[in-house]
Amino acid sequence: MASQKALNPPSGECRQCWQHAYDSRAQHAHLGPREDCPACVDHMRNGHPAALIVPDERRAW
Ligand SMILES: [Zn+2]
Ligand SMILES: [Zn+2]
Repeated sequence: MASQKALNPPSGECRQCWQHAYDSRAQHAHLGPREDCPACVDHMRNGHPAALIVPDERRAW
C-alpha cells in the first residue's frame, strides 16, 4: 500500500520520481531484479518535465 508520504510530494519535487522513490516496490513491481526503470532513467538523463513538478504554492520564503 502506498504511504501518504509517497502520495504527497513537497513543492519543487517531481511527482513521478518522488512516488518511485517512496513507493518503489509498487512502482517498480513490473521490473526484473536487475532491470532499470525506464521512467526513472528517462528523468535522470533528460530531467523532469515541468508538468510533473509540484508547484510552489506555499512560498516558504
Ligand atoms: Zn522526475
Ligand atoms: Zn522508477
